[in-house]
Amino acid sequence: MNNNLRIALFPGSFDPFTIGHFDIVQRALPMFDKIIIAIGYNSNKTGFFKLEDRVDWIKQAFYGENKIEVIQYQGLTVDCCNDQGAQFILRGLRTSVDFDYECSIAQMNKLMHPHIETVFLLTKPEHTPISSTIVRDIVRHGGDVSDFLPNGIKISISKHQ
Ligand code: ADP
Repeated sequence: MNNNLRIALFPGSFDPFTIGHFDIVQRALPMFDKIIIAIGYNSNKTGFFKLEDRVDWIKQAFYGENKIEVIQYQGLTVDCCNDQGAQFILRGLRTSVDFDYECSIAQMNKLMHPHIETVFLLTKPEHTPISSTIVRDIVRHGGDVSDFLPNGIKISISKHQ
């Protein structure tokens, strides 16, 4: 592990990755030497979109950006941070509901792994209502979600599981 590099892990389900997620990563890029976007998955519970598609879409969104890496992981986020040499966890906050949830997780992580800092960025106001859950619902019913996805990412109804 290179202690001179500031490495952040941005964990999430990203089912799918939205412009809200994209904007958080873009704004965090100047703060870190590397951001690892880590898709957490559970082998007993499949997501709506295929894991490989989710990985590909994020890679396409950051094509040419050499500070970004995309991985998948199972298990505890803090264990993934230690495996990857990441000292920071990056998370986005939309509302007080996000805050309450994130606060407990970040504080538990801090108790277990004091050397890992969780860093929060507030979402842009126009991204507050955007969630992967609602995007999935729109896709499920055949709606157009292109305004909520990073440029160039097209999700078609046939792509979902
Ligand atoms: P999780 O399953 O861990 O909640 P998500 O993929 O839903 O993962 O979200 C990953 C992170 O991105 C979380 O910190 C979440 O609060 C944040 N996030 C989700 N949507 C937005 C958005 N529209 N703007 C900013 N941050 C967001």
